[in-house]
Amino acid sequence: MHIEMARPLCTCCCCASSTRVLPLLLIDTRGEARLSLDGTSFNPAVIEGNADVFNNPHFIMEKRGWQPDQEAVTCPLCKCKFGGLKRRHHCRQCGLVVCNKCCNEKVPLPQLGIEEPERVCEACRPVTSAVTKSRSHIPAVQQAAASELSLLCKNDRNMNLIFQYGGFHTLLGLAGGSLRQANEDILAAVVNALHTLSTNEPVQSYMAQSRIIPALCQVLEKTQPNKGKILMDGLSALTIYCKSQAFLNTVLDSGGLSAILPLCRCPDGTVALMAVSLLSVLLENPATHAALVDGRGEALRNLLSLVNVDNAQMQAVALKCLNYVSMGKDWNKHRIIQEDFSCGRPLLAVVRTETINMQVWANAACLVANLATSQEDQTSLAENRDALLDIVKSDVTNFDLLRNVIRGIANFAKFQQNSAKILSALPHMSRHCMTHEDVAVRLSALRAVLHLLQHETEATLTQLLIEGASDMLRTLTGAGDVMNAMFAAISQTHPDLSRPL
Ligand SMILES: [Zn+2]
Ligand SMILES: [Zn+2]
Repeated sequence: MHIEMARPLCTCCCCASSTRVLPLLLIDTRGEARLSLDGTSFNPAVIEGNADVFNNPHFIMEKRGWQPDQEAVTCPLCKCKFGGLKRRHHCRQCGLVVCNKCCNEKVPLPQLGIEEPERVCEACRPVTSAVTKSRSHIPAVQQAAASELSLLCKNDRNMNLIFQYGGFHTLLGLAGGSLRQANEDILAAVVNALHTLSTNEPVQSYMAQSRIIPALCQVLEKTQPNKGKILMDGLSALTIYCKSQAFLNTVLDSGGLSAILPLCRCPDGTVALMAVSLLSVLLENPATHAALVDGRGEALRNLLSLVNVDNAQMQAVALKCLNYVSMGKDWNKHRIIQEDFSCGRPLLAVVRTETINMQVWANAACLVANLATSQEDQTSLAENRDALLDIVKSDVTNFDLLRNVIRGIANFAKFQQNSAKILSALPHMSRHCMTHEDVAVRLSALRAVLHLLQHETEATLTQLLIEGASDMLRTLTGAGDVMNAMFAAISQTHPDLSRPL
């Protein structure tokens, strides 16, 4: 009886002459999600077994099916015609039938479970041999693998091969390994490559599914603050995922916040700025605020201390972070105010400084305006309130600044204890804000005046008459909602007035 060995049904030179029984090759028929890059559609590598390659760098990939011999008419690389004496081989990596000249080199393929050297075609060889090298226990060879993959990532032509032949998984595995061995040279090349790959939008989902986000978070968490290059590449890569709503939760669930927070105080100014910018993206999601507010205060204190540094960009972003947090509950505002005091009141210093960057000034005024709604903290905020009043009295012209300043004053005006101070700025508000061309400025000014009328009716009216109340009345009649609310209030409090006699 003739018994067929389990081997590919192939009569190409390499198979026919081989005395070894090759592992049975699987035809990929599972319809895995195909990826598409630069118009090429392909199947990414599939990992057999434990797919957490960050912690399992010696993963095994599923093999590709082999092209049936009869289908191969020409060499896919050099286009020479097969037939006659033309020697041809199956590439063990891509499974295609390739001519002898284009498939002459042999490479061990431990990533496919093949330890002995096997034929690999010239198209597959650069990525495949780098993946093979990464299995070495010699750091210099691993380093070469990382550098080669990093270079190959820079060339769009190789991009899909990196995903097909396990290059991406290899990078994740090398990242984990180099962190464990504290090999920063390898880590630098790997994180640089991961950043390059992450810039390709069509493959981001695939990389996120393959757990690149927790890997990047661990890199950021475990890398020394003086390794600027690694940290910058890691932060740039993570920023890409944070900007997408689809991956933001994964970043948060992967400990992204605790990885980024310490970097906000990194002595390397560029790293710190990138970290604070990334933090501001995370803080757009209110679910992140509790971690900042309810921690031991370091995070808030760190941000507040950045409010007053000698770097306008950093100041603006740190204030933006605090603004997000201050939009939430009164507790959040209270915590910011508490920590501001424990840092020596950097916020007040910035609001009072006239010679600063306009964006910084506007962001600081915005923060004070947000904090101003906290009833519990009115006494603590008195000096901030006065700083806003001084800005209005100085007749500033910047829209962004004025909008936030007058909104803050309107918020403060809600509380009676602030009335006397705010009355002192009423002439300026009537002259410059009630008729301002920006509707937000006009309505905030009107809101402030209505609160004053509530708390200090006579003094406010007297002041308005001195200033000529016509501006205020004009603003009132221009604000449809306010007019409707007043009509509704009148008919509710005096229903008899609108009843027919
Ligand atoms: Zn060829
Ligand atoms: Zn090949």
